[in-house]
Amino acid sequence: MERLRILHLEDNIYDAELVHTTLLKDRLDPVITRVDKRDDFERILSQEQFDLILCDYNLPSFDGLSALSIARQMAAETPLIFVSGTIGEERAIDSLKNGATDYVLKDNLQRLPSAVRRALQEQEERVKHRKAELELQLAETRYRTIFESSGTAMAVIEEEDMMLSLVNSNFAKLFGYSKEEIQNKMKWTEFAHQDDLPRMKEYHVLRRTSSGSAPREYEFRLRHKSGALRHVHMTIEMVPETKTSIASLIDITERKQAEEQLRQQAALLDIDPNAIMVRDMDDRIIFWNKGAEKLYEWTKEEMIGKRWSEIQYRDMKEEYAAAMKTVLERSEWHGEWTHKTKSGKEIIVDCFWKLVKDEKGNPSAIYLVKTDITEKKKIQAQYLRVQRMESIGTLASGIAHDLNNALGPVFLGIHFLRNTVTDEKGQRTLHLIEASTKRAADMVKQVLLFARGGDGGETTLQIRHVINEIESIIRDTFPKSIEISTNIPKGLALVKGDATQIHQVMMNLCVNARDAMPEGGALTITAENVSLDGQTAAFLEGATSGDYVVIRIQDTGVGMSEEVKERIFEPFFTTKAVGKGTGLGLSTSLGIIKSHRGFMNVESEQGKGTRIDIYFPAVSTPQTEEGTEKREEFPQGHGETVLVVDDESSIREISRATLESYGYQALLAADGVEGVALFAKHMKDIDAVVCDINMPHLDGTAMLHAVRKMKPSVAVLVMSGVPLGAVQGKLAEDVKPFFLQKPFSVEVFLTTLDKALKSALKTWTRTPLMEE
Ligand code: ADP
Ligand code: MG
Repeated sequence: MERLRILHLEDNIYDAELVHTTLLKDRLDPVITRVDKRDDFERILSQEQFDLILCDYNLPSFDGLSALSIARQMAAETPLIFVSGTIGEERAIDSLKNGATDYVLKDNLQRLPSAVRRALQEQEERVKHRKAELELQLAETRYRTIFESSGTAMAVIEEEDMMLSLVNSNFAKLFGYSKEEIQNKMKWTEFAHQDDLPRMKEYHVLRRTSSGSAPREYEFRLRHKSGALRHVHMTIEMVPETKTSIASLIDITERKQAEEQLRQQAALLDIDPNAIMVRDMDDRIIFWNKGAEKLYEWTKEEMIGKRWSEIQYRDMKEEYAAAMKTVLERSEWHGEWTHKTKSGKEIIVDCFWKLVKDEKGNPSAIYLVKTDITEKKKIQAQYLRVQRMESIGTLASGIAHDLNNALGPVFLGIHFLRNTVTDEKGQRTLHLIEASTKRAADMVKQVLLFARGGDGGETTLQIRHVINEIESIIRDTFPKSIEISTNIPKGLALVKGDATQIHQVMMNLCVNARDAMPEGGALTITAENVSLDGQTAAFLEGATSGDYVVIRIQDTGVGMSEEVKERIFEPFFTTKAVGKGTGLGLSTSLGIIKSHRGFMNVESEQGKGTRIDIYFPAVSTPQTEEGTEKREEFPQGHGETVLVVDDESSIREISRATLESYGYQALLAADGVEGVALFAKHMKDIDAVVCDINMPHLDGTAMLHAVRKMKPSVAVLVMSGVPLGAVQGKLAEDVKPFFLQKPFSVEVFLTTLDKALKSALKTWTRTPLMEE
């Protein structure tokens, strides 16, 4: 142990010696420096350090209190003990008040060693304490510096009342205040967004009651001084053993805004009806919108992370690789794919691929937009088919029209010749010619029906009778290897139509069924009432909603391939050998059905058979008597004059022959102009005008109008290769002609002429105003 360094202020050497001995006796071994003057005292204090000052109170040149005050100034840390004679209680107290450590009387010196020891010990403790205090101060400064200079916004929250007792500059800056404005003035809760306030309070309560269960990290929305919102990520921790928490906040407003923007964009993409997806460069799906869910039937959850190529392009690896190459080279790719949906449905999609690059320009993802064009493709195909049919129709009707003109004279000629050719051989030949011509005329009629759709009869009829008739015919004529059955329920609704035409349709279909079953099979004909709602109708080509009678003709024959099915309604399309099929059966049937405002549905599978459903709109009126037309004798003329106007000379000639052999007189003109001229000249004698509609110069409609003007009572007849419906519109109101569809037989010609004459006579007699 170092020796005790003592400064002793004492004028009396004996007393000084006594003090020294007393200390030595008590095993304190001091080095004592004695001074007795003020100057020396001050000097030595400025030069040296002592562990203890002993001081006499009564000095000749100096007093104890002054010494004390000097010592306090110059060696504040050094304890000072007065060693003196009696000084009185008051002074003693004064001295202690002024900083002396103790007071020992000279006549009680034995107390000195213990007083010294205590003073030294106290001093030692004081130093220790001071040091600890310093250290604490240092730590405090250090933490304050950390608190202040930390990059994050920090705050100390008093959990008692949520007061912010300390905040750093970052915190103040984050919310637009100064530190002073906040510290001990603002509460934590004043910053919260009102929606987040309950949560903030809840966590606060949790921290105070059971600090373990309060979340340490969470996100809040807090208000800036300006009122703007800041999103913060906050970490909060209770300081152990206190009611204080330290919070550190990170501003995540921008991140939140970016997230929000992304969310909005994703929501927008979800509204898009197109299928939109994003694939990363590893071909994994990272985005899948609602449109994609709808189109492909896979949900987002099912698809995110999956490899698209493994789902769609297993069988198209090469095409897929080519598309990938293009998108990498040119940043985009556009094309069509046939994809499969979750349920295995095939869809055609129009795809647009766009390469997305990162900031460095490296490909990072592919953005894909797909549009379902399955329906569009189907409609396109349908449209093309309709167009093809239309052009074929136009072509066919043109040919048919010319054929009609060519056949007309043949017909009339045959009849005319019948009366002149009398030998049996000639008659037979005539008969053959007539049969062939009829067949040709029938074909032409079919083509025209297909092209123009026919007229659609106006009688109300019961389909059951038609089917029964057909059944008896095919039972008689079809091979026995074909088993025929029919099933027609009672109460089948009536339809409006032409029995002959429906008959023809059914015949066509049954013959097709027969041809499809060369080895035999089953042919089933059924009929029933059906009521189609809008939705069902939408699935059937050409259908609208309503009540129908449907006839189903089903066979167990060879069926049709898709390619054949595509084309069966084209006129002249046949898969049958030359001479066997005309390719007109189905196209004509369709034309007829359409003119009845019905439609057809074909179901066929190769090797299994075919079912064709034909729908006719049902009518609710009760069934009428099916009138059978009475066959009249050919009506004869009684010398009436008939003007025939046609640009075809053969028709003119044959008409004249016919008219003359049946008791009429004929006048002929080659076109409208000539016709009008002749009429004007022979107006008085002319009882009827028969004219073609399509003629050069002045056409039939104009001519008829003119003659009716000149002579209202004249009977008029129109001949045309096209159905009446098609020309009616062109005729003036007052001209209500009788109609002769080319080619016509002698019987039809004479009967119609007779009707026209009778009708004109009736009008003539009933309306005397029209008298000439
Ligand atoms: P055609 O009978 O003269 O060939 P259609 O217009 O009646 O002409 O028929 C066209 C084609 O449709 C036929 O050649 C045949 O290929 C096909 N077809 C029609 N009906 C059937 C059926 N019931 N079964 C199989 N194929 C059929
Ligand atoms: Mg056929």
